[in-house]
Amino acid sequence: MPSDALFLVLLGGPGAGKGTQAERLSEILGIPQVSTGELFRENLKKETELGLLAKGYMERGELVPDEVTVGMVRERLSRADARKGAILDGFPRTIAQAEALEELLVEMDHQLAVVPNIQVPDDVLLARLAGRWTCRKCGAMYHQLFSPPQEEGVCDRCGGELYQRPDDTPDTQKHRIEVYKEQTAPLIDYYREKGLLAEVDGRPGIDKIQAELLEIVRGL
Ligand code: AMP
Repeated sequence: MPSDALFLVLLGGPGAGKGTQAERLSEILGIPQVSTGELFRENLKKETELGLLAKGYMERGELVPDEVTVGMVRERLSRADARKGAILDGFPRTIAQAEALEELLVEMDHQLAVVPNIQVPDDVLLARLAGRWTCRKCGAMYHQLFSPPQEEGVCDRCGGELYQRPDDTPDTQKHRIEVYKEQTAPLIDYYREKGLLAEVDGRPGIDKIQAELLEIVRGL
């Protein structure tokens, strides 16, 4: 019998708001946010073997190879806090990763509940990526226009220093959107065919999108 744990995948292009929403939903629903981008950045900061392997791909705005990413997610989901579920943010990003996730969840006697797709047009994605700041210490995200910190350059949550991600430069941003279209957007149809997709308009403000996501989850 599949468990009553809650596993969600948030889909959407780079800058669609997956990270912001995953962070909020995680607090409200009491299940961890599992962000592969954040896990890679933590590994990079600690200079682990995994981090060094991922570095070049991340700097170029390309995807880290599937087997490396899936191995990292497998380890993360095996931790005790993911027993009640998880909000997957930035994973899967390829069909092969989606298939691996399905196998992983079956092994754990779990299943995906729903896959909200946060839809945002390209010009809005670029505008959002351009003003994005991330906390070096805790990974919290801010935007200079849409969700600025109380004090410039300082994280509201932990007081850490805010920085602009090296893969948030204009050229890399454009490349990440192309990579998203080629390799990740096919997941929209993949999950639609499985009856798991829920479309969400990602243009309104953060609170409105959050309310819509909660409505989807509570209606399950
Ligand atoms: P993000 O923070 O989700 O924008 O991810 C930052 C970078 O980490 C991406 O541009 C990729 O280089 C890498 N990355 C994150 N998630 C994945 C994934 N699921 N598959 C492959 N690479 C990933």
